[in-house]
Amino acid sequence: MHINDAVFLEDLCPKFRFRQWRKSIHRFTGKSCIYCGKPSESIDHVLPRSQGGLSTTENCVPACLSCNGDKSDENALYWYRRQKFYDPRRAMAIRAWLEGDLRLAIRLLQWANPNFKTSNKNYEQDESGYKAA
Ligand SMILES: [Zn+2]
Repeated sequence: MHINDAVFLEDLCPKFRFRQWRKSIHRFTGKSCIYCGKPSESIDHVLPRSQGGLSTTENCVPACLSCNGDKSDENALYWYRRQKFYDPRRAMAIRAWLEGDLRLAIRLLQWANPNFKTSNKNYEQDESGYKAA
């Protein structure tokens, strides 16, 4: 496919692009919740949309439904500090993620969870980041 066709396709199908973006977010952490390490079933806005948080890779982390629902509209870092499963390495990872340093975030998550699996090849490709409208 010609590169121009791909761009054209994406413009035609923003939903498709959004789905791809969501998938790439989950792939960064090997489909595990950034807060507790359980399977991620949703995307959480670290700074809630109600507080002006954007749907960008930097502000969107993979989260399980339990964490996402419990956190609700709270600031993620404040909320996370109060959780039983709080892990300072994960807190650092969340902070790195917010700063757009996904490479560091993933390294910290790997440190927090030795069983952590992710495809670094995909991650390298996705690092430029998709942004949702
Ligand atoms: Zn969770």
